[in-house]
Amino acid sequence: MLVYNSQHHKKEELIPIEPGKIRMYVCGPTVYDHIHIGNARTFLSFDVIRRYLQYKGFDVTMAQNLTDVDDKIINRAHEEGRSSAEVAEEYSNAFIDIMHRFGVEDPDIRPRATQEIEAMQDMILTLIQKGHAYVAANGDVYFSVRSDKNYGVLSGRELDQLRAGERVEVNEDKRDPFDFALWKSAKPGEPSWPSPWGEGRPGWHTECCAMIHRYLGTPIDIHGGGQDLVFPHHENETAQAMCAWDAPLAHAWMHTGMLRVDGEKMSKSLGNFYTLKEVLDKYPADAVRLLMLQTHYRAPLDFSFSRLDGTLGTLERLRGCVRNLMWAAQNSAQPTRELTNSDTSLAAAVAQARTDFVAQMDDDFNTAGGLAAIFTLTTAANTYLDQHMGSVVASVATDAANTLVELLDVLGINLSESIHNELPAELITLSASLANYAGTSTDEAAQALLNARQQARAEKNWALADSIRDAIAELGLTIEDTAAGPRLTVKGRAARG
Ligand code: AMP
Ligand code: ZN
Repeated sequence: MLVYNSQHHKKEELIPIEPGKIRMYVCGPTVYDHIHIGNARTFLSFDVIRRYLQYKGFDVTMAQNLTDVDDKIINRAHEEGRSSAEVAEEYSNAFIDIMHRFGVEDPDIRPRATQEIEAMQDMILTLIQKGHAYVAANGDVYFSVRSDKNYGVLSGRELDQLRAGERVEVNEDKRDPFDFALWKSAKPGEPSWPSPWGEGRPGWHTECCAMIHRYLGTPIDIHGGGQDLVFPHHENETAQAMCAWDAPLAHAWMHTGMLRVDGEKMSKSLGNFYTLKEVLDKYPADAVRLLMLQTHYRAPLDFSFSRLDGTLGTLERLRGCVRNLMWAAQNSAQPTRELTNSDTSLAAAVAQARTDFVAQMDDDFNTAGGLAAIFTLTTAANTYLDQHMGSVVASVATDAANTLVELLDVLGINLSESIHNELPAELITLSASLANYAGTSTDEAAQALLNARQQARAEKNWALADSIRDAIAELGLTIEDTAAGPRLTVKGRAARG
């Protein structure tokens, strides 16, 4: 498998540090507000990377922090007249909740900065002892970038070419403008903890590094985040690890491209800023995932609502295809029929889709290529159904459906669940009253109603047949006649994509 390592600017073979295992860390959010769709792009990318590594058989351990002490949290707390802890608690919960709604799996370990003070202080003490950090007159502790001959190794920057003031705090207590705070002395009204250097709180760069060391052990296989974190955050993380423990922090550094909206940088002042929550309140998570995964994770992602609307149709096409394959396999299978060319060519398309999907994903997690393999199989399956809707070979149709479901599941798009939950639960009561059949599944209830209607028509009981049809229509369903007999579909939804 090839993984693009941003430290070396090239794709490299993924060789796990421990055979069969991958330890990975993805920088988590600063919990002062709801996350935006740019943050979501990064978290989604690493969710899929993790899922694919698991699909390939790796035993993956993933950690992700919550930055729950930070200037932005403190400022918001002051503005709202509440404590930093309350603000952090609210937005930590909101983050975890929206990740669940987005289908992003929980990390195995989710450390919080405020609970890891001891691990951070241990690391700072080591850095001071080794001459890589110093206590300033104001009680801050700084990392001395000049003490680290490797500083700049990750982002490829030379210290002397960097200009002070650019994303780096200029401060007269520092020996060098690029020195960064490992520990910040407490100001009145700020959350603080006792330390050998007085009351204070940890710096942001210190947090991830100490947590990785504590929970995963250094070096780890993969460290991830958005491209904006390469400098100074990740540069500073790796500098601390190298100087404290004489080992790099990570083997592969992976960075996601930035999300843009309608071709522009997303910003509140441009009025094109969207939280993930507001998007998921209007669109299904699978549609948002599909849109984002159609761009390679390293490329900039162009988000727009018109693209997202288009994705709804794509999702429906995929769902319709799987639904029709499953339906045909159950209702129109011809066990004794001899295999025709179209059976064998669909079977070949299934095998090809699997091969192509894995080849694309093995090449630095090319989800766009992986999706293309899925779409090609969908087209082949639709052609097959056009020819054979009334007489499929069950194993061929089932294999195609299962393959689509399985490959989409690697991308965290769960088709079988949405297909399964498509028919409304009210069908069961309807079936009990009109078909005298009180089953437990909506599929069975649908079948019972269709049978009862057929029987009523055969008996020329038009009143009963019509009342069954009307009651079904009231639930937003239509009766569709197929070569394999009638079936229920959700109204307004194309049966074929
Ligand atoms: P933050 O809370 O700002 O540290 O951001 C959390 C994660 O989202 C980090 O990995 C950032 O690199 C990433 N991120 C921030 N803005 C964007 C964006 N526009 N597109 C993609 N990722 C982003
Ligand atoms: Zn980090």
